[in-house]
Formats: sequence, C-alpha cells, structure tokens
Amino acid sequence: MIFHVITLFPEVCKAYTDASVLGRAQKTDKGKGAKVRGKKIEVKYYNPRDFSKNKHKKVDDKPYAGGPGMVMYAEPFLRAWEKAVGKKKDMKKVKTLIMSPRGKKFDTAYAKKIAKTYEHVVLISGRYEGIDSRVKKILKAEEISVGDYVLTGGELPALSIIDCVSRQIPGVLGTFESLEESRVSSGEMYTRPETLVYKGKKHVVPKILLGGNHAQIEAWRKSR
Ligand code: SAH
Repeated sequence: MIFHVITLFPEVCKAYTDASVLGRAQKTDKGKGAKVRGKKIEVKYYNPRDFSKNKHKKVDDKPYAGGPGMVMYAEPFLRAWEKAVGKKKDMKKVKTLIMSPRGKKFDTAYAKKIAKTYEHVVLISGRYEGIDSRVKKILKAEEISVGDYVLTGGELPALSIIDCVSRQIPGVLGTFESLEESRVSSGEMYTRPETLVYKGKKHVVPKILLGGNHAQIEAWRKSR
C-alpha cells in the first residue's frame, strides 16, 4: 500500500509516519531468522506549494462571492495528484480522499475496506477554509471526516487514516498486537509495580490478575 499525502506541512506528518509501528512497516526487515520481510507500506509526501506556478508560491485566494477565510487553489493539488498517481494504469486500485469535516465519517470498517481494495491512497489535506471544490469533482474524490469536530487542517485526519488503514495490512502489526481486535479485549490493564504508591495512597492491581486462573481472568476481563 502506498499512501500519497498532499499537504502544506509534509515534515510535520513525516515525523509521525516515520516513528514506531508505521516507521517499521516502511522498512525491509532483515531481523531475526532467515526471513526477510518486505516493506508493508510506503508514505510519500507532496507539497502543493512546490506545484504552484505563482511566483510567490501562493496557494490560496479569496472565495468567489465573498465569505470568511481563504480557499486553496485547485491547480497545485491537481498537479500534485498527477505526480502521485496520474500515470497509474489501474485506476481501480487508486482511492483519492479529501479531508473535510463535512465528509463521510471514517471508522475501522471503512479502514478495512480501503486496506483490502486499493494499492494507492491519496490523502488531500486542506488548510484555511478548504480546497476549491473542482478538485473533488475532477479527481472523483471522496470527502472523509474523522469526527464531528473542526481542526485547523487535514494533517491529523490524514495521519489518523494512514495509521488505522496500515494496521489492517497483514504484517504491519506484530503477531501479538494483531490479535488485539479478535481476542476479548479489556478496558482495564495493569503492569508493574503491583502496588503503586501515589501521594501516600496505595493503588493495587486487582488480585484476580495475579493468580493463574485463566478462565476466571477471561471472565473478569469480559466484565470490564
Ligand atoms: N470552515 C471550513 C473548515 C475548514 S477546516 C468548513 O466548514 O469546512 C480546515 C481543513 O481542515 C479542512 O479543509 C480539512 O482538510 C481539515 N479538517 C478539519 N476538520 C476535519 C475533520 N473533522 N475531518 C477531516 N478533515 C478536517
């Protein structure tokens, strides 16, 4: 899976996608044993400013018919998209998403569908009031919202989507972590120390977790 992120702030996003699980998924793993595991994902960044033909690299302008804020020009986004996936032969394997608080609500079921169906996901991230609506029409893109709240930009939504879709791709999570969604998960979890002293008060780990009765532990976890 290749994610193509079109954003004015690639360096902000890259810091996140290069860390931890997502960072590891972008590397060839020549770790333990003879098995060489290939890259599971790739994340590419495109800054609309680099695709601006304006001599001041301006990317936004006043909206037609007035109104607050600025609207981002269509062309830098269209050119960035062309660079990312314009030459792909099989457009059925390409999905273009525009981050928008008004879009379809993103969830795990949607992430699973994306992970199964596509090879390239383009994530278009706006700033200011948003992006000229012709981008959506021309690219036949889908507007996606990560929740009923408004952020200052589409970077966090794009990162949330990359993160959630990636963990649905086989091999991205370790075997242990990947069990997470199929096993009975508990809202309560503890690790050492067994007795935590905070401001003079003792906070202990539930006794049941310290014994070895697995049936009882499972039942307890389900009840949480
Ligand atoms: N007044 C605008 C708000 C734009 S928010 C409106 O009502 O649409 C600026 C940018 O942040 C948007 O272009 C979008 O890319 C992003 N954004 C903000 N909140 C978001 C959300 N909940 N989900 C997805 N993208 C969001």
